[in-house]
Amino acid sequence: MNYNVNEKGYYGDFGGAYIPEMLYPNVEELRQNYIKVMQEPDFQEEFKALLKEYVGRPTPLYYAKRFSEKYGTNVYLKREDLCHTGAHKVNNTIGQILMAKRLGKNRIIAETGAGQHGVATATVCALMGLECIVYMGAIDIKRQAPNVARMKMLGATVVPAESGSKTLKDATNEAIRDWINNPTDTHYIIGSVVGPHPYPDMVARFQSVISEEVKKQLLEKEGKENPDYVVACVGGGSNAAGIYYHYLDTPEVGIIAVEAAGKGIHSGESAATSALGKEGIIHGSKTLLMQTDDGQITEPYSISAGLDYPGVGPMHAHLFRSGRGEFISITDADAMQAGLELCKLEGIIPAIESSHALAIFEERKFKKEDIVVVNLSGRGDKDLSTFIDYFKLA
Ligand SMILES: *Cc1c(COP(=O)(O)O)cnc(C)c1O
Repeated sequence: MNYNVNEKGYYGDFGGAYIPEMLYPNVEELRQNYIKVMQEPDFQEEFKALLKEYVGRPTPLYYAKRFSEKYGTNVYLKREDLCHTGAHKVNNTIGQILMAKRLGKNRIIAETGAGQHGVATATVCALMGLECIVYMGAIDIKRQAPNVARMKMLGATVVPAESGSKTLKDATNEAIRDWINNPTDTHYIIGSVVGPHPYPDMVARFQSVISEEVKKQLLEKEGKENPDYVVACVGGGSNAAGIYYHYLDTPEVGIIAVEAAGKGIHSGESAATSALGKEGIIHGSKTLLMQTDDGQITEPYSISAGLDYPGVGPMHAHLFRSGRGEFISITDADAMQAGLELCKLEGIIPAIESSHALAIFEERKFKKEDIVVVNLSGRGDKDLSTFIDYFKLA
């Protein structure tokens, strides 16, 4: 079984490029060039230098001693929360802005839901001095005021999407419309391993620096490159793809994907795509997504904005269907408790997304000698008001 993308852009049954005719030239230009550009020595040199000097990589692989003792196993945290901007998303936006420059683009567009990807995109546009337009649902603009302010401070133009439900999918539609109208000078930075081929593969390759580092760091600390398990939360699936990437074809390393069960898988308010999803097409790729019997995409729900997505990337749909990945869903309540527990046990305030991955240890038991690497995708500063409301801290 192959868990990576094939030449046609598929992971097993999933992936591809289901796009309107008018978008074809843009996507095709990227498809023809992305691997070639990425393999150029000067691209690699610039990418690695920025990851080191600007993002702060390598991020530590930290042995969480008190957390490990509590759960009777060995837990390492891959500290993506220590990246510049507070999460893994910047690994991808750095890669894509360098790609855009190599392809001669001087205008960047992006869509954002909670604003995290918008901020990561605005950051690298400021770094490179490129124009940045971020499409965001009008409702999300109201809900996510601090991130809107960040994007504006970084020099981006935030354009409200006023159609439909005025949230992420409407922002995505606006971004696609913009790209169709600006095919030559504009690059569209997608924020996760979703979208038409080659985006899922390109984003996975940029994020794969995470597992590349884990291999080296684990070799130093444990005398072997392979842990028993790698664990990550899955929204679209980019931080997960990053920590799985170099282990996909190593069956001794178990892959655990953690989705948001919201208020419960069958509560009608969740984002547990593998449990509830059926095959369908979203954002240009065939994958598993939550939909009604007549194929309308269901509005997802999770307390964490980053997991509030009705699909998963095609790599993850394939990991689920093939059985290579073990999928676990975690409720809001369990994630919030696990997040607070990490604060008390390790002095680390995690993002609520990452807290979902930490919550599996209550139910999923590991052996005493197991080595479990959890991707701590982001820090919790952005979630402070949610923590305050939830635990009545103020
Ligand atoms: C955006 C985000 C996620 C979810 O996105 P993926 O593409 O699934 O990684 C997870 N954690 C944090 C901290 C995020 O900001």
